[in-house]
Amino acid sequence: MTKYIFVTGGVVSSVGKGITVASIGTVLKSRGISVSVQKLDPYLNVDPGTMSPYQHGEVFVTGDGAETDLDLGNYERFIDIDLTAESNTTSGQVYSAVIAKERRGDFLGGTIQVVPHLTGEIKDRFRKLADKSKADVLLIEVGGTVGDIEGQPFLEAIRQMRKDVGRDNVLYVHVTLLPYIGPTQELKTKPTQHSVNELRRIGIQPDVIVCRSDISIPEAIRDKISLFCDVDREAVIFCPTVNSIYEVPLVLESEGLGDFMVRKLDLKAHPPQLDSWREMVSCFSGACDTVRIALVGKYVELKDAYYSVREALTHAAMHHGRKLQIDWVQSEDLERPGGEKLLEHAQGIIVPGGFGDRGIEGMIKAAKYARVHKVPYFGLCLGLQIMVIEFGRHVLSAARANSTEFDAGTAHPVIDIMPEQKVVCGKGGTMRLGNWPCQVVPGTKAAAAYGKELVYERHRHRFEFNNRYLDSYRAAGMVFSGLSPDRKLVEVCELADHPWMVACQFHPEFTSRPGKPQPLFRDFIGAAKDVLREGSQAALPLAAE
Ligand code: GLN
Repeated sequence: MTKYIFVTGGVVSSVGKGITVASIGTVLKSRGISVSVQKLDPYLNVDPGTMSPYQHGEVFVTGDGAETDLDLGNYERFIDIDLTAESNTTSGQVYSAVIAKERRGDFLGGTIQVVPHLTGEIKDRFRKLADKSKADVLLIEVGGTVGDIEGQPFLEAIRQMRKDVGRDNVLYVHVTLLPYIGPTQELKTKPTQHSVNELRRIGIQPDVIVCRSDISIPEAIRDKISLFCDVDREAVIFCPTVNSIYEVPLVLESEGLGDFMVRKLDLKAHPPQLDSWREMVSCFSGACDTVRIALVGKYVELKDAYYSVREALTHAAMHHGRKLQIDWVQSEDLERPGGEKLLEHAQGIIVPGGFGDRGIEGMIKAAKYARVHKVPYFGLCLGLQIMVIEFGRHVLSAARANSTEFDAGTAHPVIDIMPEQKVVCGKGGTMRLGNWPCQVVPGTKAAAAYGKELVYERHRHRFEFNNRYLDSYRAAGMVFSGLSPDRKLVEVCELADHPWMVACQFHPEFTSRPGKPQPLFRDFIGAAKDVLREGSQAALPLAAE
């Protein structure tokens, strides 16, 4: 029978609840306990696929093609599991499902209410994932902060679960912040007390309190929180900010959270095996040489928009024993005269995914710079389309080469909407999504990276390379190194005459894991790490424009 760990957040959002949940997963898995995870998002959107990155950060795509919260990326990376659509439940989905049932007549004349109908639908989703995953423990994170109006049905549902599955099969973990007051040099527990009171008001008494803080926490605080919040002293877990998010499982373990959970839930477990995790983290913190990558995008003010890209770069840098330094380059800044200066320190340039035409010309400049100066380049989805447009304009001299996404009437639509997308009207969940197979062409850089001929990667796009241009691109030196098995879609392209200029129509960032870097990311950083640039020992000789 599956046991449940519910994680709520208090005091403020962005306190690190997602990383805590992911790290609890690591700690349990290290004891041989199988884990699955579900994120509950209180907003009314059906999924984050239609939200602006400014509102929501990255949209994480699962293998089965669900557009989900970025926390799922952390769960997958920390626990090394592949999640599915069932791992993200939003209020939008819950309300839609209940209303659809009502319209079908499933409730036989009853009045439809938040309790028990909405809460019942939420609990069904817990059970469905428990049945499907057969996990020993289902970790459930309630998004938002305790006290939010729209989060109430979720909190009520997790409260009811205690009675449904039995007190001993449920653990409530509350993650809070201890704010630091500078003038008195104190960490304050009052907001934690208040948020625990708020939880109790709706009938939930937390079993564990994870205290986040930017500085180390004095021991006396453990007693205070234990007393005021009525939790065991050993269940007050300190989690001060650390250098890398991958250290958090080790912090929770050393605070005794693993043993506490095993005991409280009476789980069958072996002693924790975290040696390889520890080694991975120590390699990372021990690295002194850096590898410097320019990430060129339009949402760079908001790093969360490129969360998985940053993590995948980190894993690859870790693999090569380097510290990652990212220059976040706003693509519009490259459009100004002299903008290239922003790239002159970069040992590698990455152009990640994106939508809409803002900043596109800057990205094209970045691709040209990488090609001409032979700086390693990695294009992800939009980054492939940019590489293709740049090549069309400057190598094939088709000055107006473009994607029909940015210029519907372009004379050279080198990137065009996929035929099956032409008939799509709705916006939500309608792109080409999730895992699709890709046949890798032997003898290419892509083949060298993957070391196999058939790979599956996750997608999220509507536009594609226009096959009418295949021959002219090939003749000019572009290599199409990954194709869909029916050979209709270009999945990977690269330049023969360049140290490493590779781009893919999919999103390889979603499958990278610490200790297991995604192969293309690994080889991109491998190519970048020894490149000498401005400010490094010797300047790279620049090829003529
Ligand atoms: N806007 C492009 C498309 O839809 C690229 C999408 C992306 O980068 N995810 O094809």
